[in-house]
Amino acid sequence: AVVTRFAPSPTGFLHIGGARTALFNWLFARHHGGKFLLRIEDTDRVRSTEAAIEAILDGMKWLDLDWDGEAVYQFARASRHAEVAHDLLARGEAYRCYLTQDELAAMRAEAQEKRVPFRVRSPWRDRDNGDPEAPHVIRLRAPQEGSATIHDRVQGEVTVQNAELDDFILLRSDGTPTYMLSVVVDDNDMGVTHIIRGDDHLNNAFRQSALIRAMNWREPVYAHVPLIHGADGAKLSKRHGALGVDAYRDEMGYLPEAVNNYLLRLGWGHGDHEIISRAQAIEWFDLANVGRSPSRFDFKKLENLNGHYIREADDSRLAGLVAPRVEALVDRPLDDMDRALLARAMGALKPRAKTLGEIAEGAVFLFLPDRLELDEKAAQLLRDAPPGLLADVTERLRGLPDWTSESIEEAVRETAEAAELGLGKLAQPLRAALTGRAVSPGIFDVLLLLGRDASLARLDAAHN
Ligand code: GLU
Repeated sequence: AVVTRFAPSPTGFLHIGGARTALFNWLFARHHGGKFLLRIEDTDRVRSTEAAIEAILDGMKWLDLDWDGEAVYQFARASRHAEVAHDLLARGEAYRCYLTQDELAAMRAEAQEKRVPFRVRSPWRDRDNGDPEAPHVIRLRAPQEGSATIHDRVQGEVTVQNAELDDFILLRSDGTPTYMLSVVVDDNDMGVTHIIRGDDHLNNAFRQSALIRAMNWREPVYAHVPLIHGADGAKLSKRHGALGVDAYRDEMGYLPEAVNNYLLRLGWGHGDHEIISRAQAIEWFDLANVGRSPSRFDFKKLENLNGHYIREADDSRLAGLVAPRVEALVDRPLDDMDRALLARAMGALKPRAKTLGEIAEGAVFLFLPDRLELDEKAAQLLRDAPPGLLADVTERLRGLPDWTSESIEEAVRETAEAAELGLGKLAQPLRAALTGRAVSPGIFDVLLLLGRDASLARLDAAHN
């Protein structure tokens, strides 16, 4: 059975590249009916924070990437990691190394002088007779002859000469395990069969597989996915969108299904499908169609997908997501009636919106006091309106026996015809008077949603 894992280090937030790694692992596991595990790699005690752990869990929940079983916390397993190091030591696969910092510095300086890459060649590899009470680290006795090949599902066959590996440290002098050791032990103990992660870890894979062979453990399948680059091809930075997923949710106003769809397409493809539902993604996901070159982050595509998912989304769900944004914009809480109105307005607000923020902007007019403050463009539209036009449309609207989209539309059209104006010419000052802005949803929707009282009050205020 397939077992994948996502293994973030909680030293920062769940950034967009990490979210994609999580998604690929999740999809691969779900596609195969296997398990998707979560491991928090919190062994860096200085840089790991509780807030970062929360942000990661929160981000995964928001993206609906559910993991199987309890999350594993790596630091809590340190004694197990040490146990494996001592097992390797007992079997001669590792050794105690007593090199001092000064000796290491001298070796590094010598390598620099000879202009050769620095690799630790410890004299203790072949004379393990130091005093175990003296300060030492435990190093892997890595193979030095021959070569090692990884059959990576994305990168293809990758071979490294063993002479290029060094006897890396398993246990530090204070007895704490290194990252390299912890990862291998945890992946083994958790039964991980497929390791899907960023290709910045490809070099580590050779070290890790040397350790796996020394333990006679089963080698996992590797899939090292090219990193995400910015639109300009440079490494992803903050400016390009290398932000926490919370920023995509809170600041940018994207829906999780849009982010998931976007991340899926970023580095994986299925024909020319752009819009891929979760069910289709599970059915189609494979490693063979993960691209080999870095993908470029493209906000335009993400926005377009978000627009699509906004139009698909349930109106009351959207209203719930947009309400806090509207509250912030109008600086007052929305009550139940307001929220119901917001949900009713979605049909008019959704079609053009690309983000939740744009929906909120479009909805603001519904929740303003009837003495509107007009923005500059709206004020200009009112000044430019033919004299008497607003008074005329106001009176026709006031005379309506009922307030339906049909009757409203008829009254507005009749006004335009009587004034020998195109509908658009009338809609402009009308919109300005009703919303205080020069852009808004369709004018009939605006009138209908505002209702008779608010509409007439705003119109009266505008032309008196
Ligand atoms: N903790 C590592 C990271 O966040 C991932 C290790 C792995 O996937 O093997 O980059």
